[in-house]
Amino acid sequence: MAKSFFSLNQKLYNLLDWFIPPTIRLSANNQDLLRRARLLVGNSLFIGISSLMWSAGFKEQLKGLEPLATILPIFFLVMGLANLALPFILQKTNAYKILAVIHVLLNFLSMVFFVFLTGGITSPNLFIMGIIPLLAMMLLSTRVTLFTMVLSLLAIFGFRMLGVVELIEIPTEQLDDFRAMAAAMGTLALAIIALFFESGRKRNQNQLETALKNLQVSNEKLQQANQEAQIATKAKSEFLANMSHEIRTPLNGIIGIAGLLSSTALDQEQQEYGQIIQSSGDALLEIINSILDFSKIEAGRLELEEEPFDLRQSIEDALDLITPKATSKGLELGYSADRQIPEFFLGDVTRFRQIMLNLLGNAVKFTERGEIMVFVTGEEVGNGRYQLHISVKDTGIGIPADRIDALFQSFSQVDSSTTRRFGGTGLGLAISKSLAELMGGKMWVESEAEKGSTFHFTVQLSTMPLEEPAHYLQPEQPELWHKRVLILDDNTTNRHILNQQMVGWGMSCVEAASAEEALTLLLAGETFDVALVDEQMPATSGLQFARLVHQQFPATPMSLLLMTSLGQRTQDKKNLFDDFLTKPVKPAFLHGALQEVLSSKHLAPQATHQPELTAFAPTNHAVRILLAEDNRINQQVGLRMLEKLGFQADLAINGAEVLETLTIQPYHIVLMDIQMPEMDGIAATRQIHERFGEQRPYIIALTANALAGQRETYLEAGMDDYLSKPIKLESLHQVLQKAVEAVNAPAKNLFQES
Ligand code: ADP
Repeated sequence: MAKSFFSLNQKLYNLLDWFIPPTIRLSANNQDLLRRARLLVGNSLFIGISSLMWSAGFKEQLKGLEPLATILPIFFLVMGLANLALPFILQKTNAYKILAVIHVLLNFLSMVFFVFLTGGITSPNLFIMGIIPLLAMMLLSTRVTLFTMVLSLLAIFGFRMLGVVELIEIPTEQLDDFRAMAAAMGTLALAIIALFFESGRKRNQNQLETALKNLQVSNEKLQQANQEAQIATKAKSEFLANMSHEIRTPLNGIIGIAGLLSSTALDQEQQEYGQIIQSSGDALLEIINSILDFSKIEAGRLELEEEPFDLRQSIEDALDLITPKATSKGLELGYSADRQIPEFFLGDVTRFRQIMLNLLGNAVKFTERGEIMVFVTGEEVGNGRYQLHISVKDTGIGIPADRIDALFQSFSQVDSSTTRRFGGTGLGLAISKSLAELMGGKMWVESEAEKGSTFHFTVQLSTMPLEEPAHYLQPEQPELWHKRVLILDDNTTNRHILNQQMVGWGMSCVEAASAEEALTLLLAGETFDVALVDEQMPATSGLQFARLVHQQFPATPMSLLLMTSLGQRTQDKKNLFDDFLTKPVKPAFLHGALQEVLSSKHLAPQATHQPELTAFAPTNHAVRILLAEDNRINQQVGLRMLEKLGFQADLAINGAEVLETLTIQPYHIVLMDIQMPEMDGIAATRQIHERFGEQRPYIIALTANALAGQRETYLEAGMDDYLSKPIKLESLHQVLQKAVEAVNAPAKNLFQES
């Protein structure tokens, strides 16, 4: 039964759809419009046909009842034809809305007319006016419904005011016919409306139920897929973690043995191969460590330590590690941390430093010129916890906007040529971001291609309140109060950072971007207690500036502090400046240096950590030492150690350069590496003996060959003493002490300065 009803329904739809233009029929996302169009067509056909039938019927029935007998049939004829025309017009024009309005108005007018003719307020058809708003609602909008409702009400009250219309005395018989007809029409119309709504509601409900069912099914599938993915990820991460661990064990063996191997007797080629094994091993270890970290994080197995650490110290340590590379690229480094941030926090310092090193390492890697700046700010977030915000800003190659989103994904680099050009695994940022998140923070980046990038991260840590913060973090700084400082640096950010720092200590600062600017200030009579001078500036260097100050203002009480990158602290510099600060300038050191030069300027600056070694220092600066060493790192280490012992030294990178340098000026002591390219230490020593004879310097061999019996070989070759690498400060001190005594012996007579 229901089935046949539905197939009938379908046939009816097919008939109606014949009038509906394809744009409406086939529009999948506007089913509602299709339903309305069907109603419009159906209603028009129904009213049209029934009106024609009534027109014929009335002619018969109302015979003799003029004028009704003439007017009513014509009226129904016109109505019928007009209604029948609507579906055809719709088929041709697609103008649904206008046609629906015409349909509603047509029916409204015909109802008014019909009621008027059949007796006005006494017409048995009056109630039919109420159907018009219903029709408007089904075909059009709420607005049109309200409008037609007002129209219908006005019509009803109009009839009331008009009173009884008596065009004709209708016999009871006809009156009953009218009543029956109106009631039948009303019933039909209301039933159609009810059916229309019910079918719409049913369809919606069916659709909703199907959609819900589909949703449930896909939800279940999704959940299952998600679970499977999680299990797979976990398994993958555990596999990676296990594998990395397994790989690390033999790798440690390789690196360890390579290290031992290079300390045995090897020729130069073998030594180089050993070094390659070692550095490749180190690189591989780094990659494996990254993968291990990453898989631990993914598997949710990374646990953070909780131990007290000095925030500033850990940031400065990270900066120290990248300083050599940044300096060798000529980059400016700067660092500022808000003074109110506490000193000590509880947290995982290793992981914190790992994030810092990743960001700083990337900044150095991707920056060719300009500066790298670190800014630290923070705020209390309650419960003794602090939110730190650290930003690392560079002026490097930057990151194109469309690549920023992919940046923190694992194994992702901005473009694949990065790996070829810069190396790296693309894991660093993914790990750092996860670490920051594990520490209750987040990580993000702002960047512009070719301009540079700023990486930000936050972490939330518990503070460790101390009774009293370090001196340089205290607000009261009586020694520095109101002292005037001249800041001379060509880098704007650095000047700004130093300025803020010192103003925070109650000092007053004046900035100069060049030596010329600074000299103009001094010539104009400005006076300062201390000048902070950058070593490397484009036009006039810091050293030249200091010389000019000493020449032009010999009596000035102004102290001079040199800010230098990892340069040598030559005697020249020591004569020109009161103290040195290594860049990036750390607040604690700056504070210490300022205090020292401002309070005890005239005391000898002797306070270093190893008094027993430096007791030896004051006479040392007269001794000239030449360090012959080809390895850059060893050069730095050697120079640093010599400096610590109070010596000043120059560099030569191989035997040939030693000979060349010695012909230009004499040296008291040569620290001679044995293995050097071009001319090795032994050949150079023989040549020195030949060329300089008695006037030769004291020669100390530096060797990585720790084997016994070698000492004799070197002494035979004409060397005076020997030191084995890695050189320890203590043994260097001892050997040099002996050397100084030897060169001071009158026989050698080497102390006459040329
Ligand atoms: P990688 O080990 O390759 O350096 P990271 O996850 O640390 O891995 O960095 C991913 C990529 O993000 C880098 O290869 C580089 O393309 C880009 N990137 C990171 N830091 C910077 C930066 N400071 N400037 C420009 N590009 C950067």
